[in-house]
Amino acid sequence: MVDVLVVGGGMAGVSIAYELAAHASVLLAEAEPTLAEHTTGRSAAIYAPSYGSPVVRALTVASGPRYRALETELDTPPLLTPHGSLWVAVDDDGAGRVEALPAEPVSPRQARELCPVLRDVRAAVWDDTASDIDVMALHQGYVRGLRARGGTIRNSSPVTATNRDGAGWRVTVGEDEIGADLVVNAAGAWADELAAKAGVPAIGLRPLRRTLALASGAAEVDPAWPLVADAADRFYFRPEGFRLLISPADETPSEPCDAKPDELDVALAIERINAATTLGLRSVHIAWAGLRSFVADRNPVVGAWPEHPGFAGQGGYGIQMAPALAVLGAAVVLDRPVPGDLPARDVSPGRSANQVVDGGDH
Ligand SMILES: Cc1cc2nc3c(=O)[nH]c(=O)nc-3n(C[C@H](O)[C@H](O)[C@H](O)COP(=O)(O)OP(=O)(O)OC[C@H]3O[C@@H](n4cnc5c(N)ncnc54)[C@H](O)[C@@H]3O)c2cc1C
Repeated sequence: MVDVLVVGGGMAGVSIAYELAAHASVLLAEAEPTLAEHTTGRSAAIYAPSYGSPVVRALTVASGPRYRALETELDTPPLLTPHGSLWVAVDDDGAGRVEALPAEPVSPRQARELCPVLRDVRAAVWDDTASDIDVMALHQGYVRGLRARGGTIRNSSPVTATNRDGAGWRVTVGEDEIGADLVVNAAGAWADELAAKAGVPAIGLRPLRRTLALASGAAEVDPAWPLVADAADRFYFRPEGFRLLISPADETPSEPCDAKPDELDVALAIERINAATTLGLRSVHIAWAGLRSFVADRNPVVGAWPEHPGFAGQGGYGIQMAPALAVLGAAVVLDRPVPGDLPARDVSPGRSANQVVDGGDH
């Protein structure tokens, strides 16, 4: 019997479990033998306050000071390393979008000074508050912190049934039946499947596959280059040592699964980045893919289902918002005060149905 059962050991699960464990007994159940095997282990590790909807940006900004506090609290190495991001318009579509981005306008010449391999830049904006995230240090820090607070983690323990039991729940975790007052659904791309097992309506989460690869080419990569992202969302790249992390910014609908990269998506990333730069990318050392899952308004879903007491969801623009979302989720779930800088109502599962249904989270 535990106060809270958290389902899923990715960033959403471990972060809220840690925050909950300050006030409650917590068990985290993960289906896989290792934690962070799905989306969390496959991200580009970018913290970009200029990325996403206003709600996403507010939560990303609110996470900034919390990242710094967590370095001490969880005894981690630096979690954010400053690394600016440059949004570029390379065609009409991008030119129509780049100026709306909340970052500082720079001239095409300044853009090429920041990243000299860029060819024709129509317009650009610069976000010097962006950083690289040490995703594994954050994830492992939350795991250590959860255990230090008395929380328990069970790997290789899929949740296969969740039934009402009086005011709480009776949950099948691996081979065992466990009683829990509250269930937190942090099952990532599988969140709607888990909700269905609990008799809670789906939120219309749509898993979308995104591909990343490490590439190199004719031109030498300078580790000081910024993250360069197409304002029209057709590619991004950033140095990873002397290689280049590349993506076609793809969003291919998928079932919840162990996502694999499609070689056509890798080829698309190379083609688009070669068209925008003089990099002459030729070879790929490794490629991978993961599922980013969204509801219709693309805001995260965090909090309790008012009409399904004791069932809550936690999902996010995953990593960059995780510290703020975890604090917000834990406060809502335990009915404690929500810090004033966190927009609880905008991310609640109970927000306007047509914003949530037919879409996804993160
Ligand atoms: C290619 C790519 C690039 C990205 N880049 C960035 C970036 O630069 N910055 C950023 O902030 N975000 C980025 N993201 C998004 C970020 O990675 C995700 O938002 C975040 O990792 C989601 O975490 P999660 O815990 O919700 O999901 P997951 O990490 O997928 O965790 C869910 C877990 O639940 C488990 N589970 C599912 N069902 C059950 C069950 N029934 N019982 C027990 N366990 C279950 C799964 O096994 C899984 O481990 C990127 C994503 C991708 C794919």
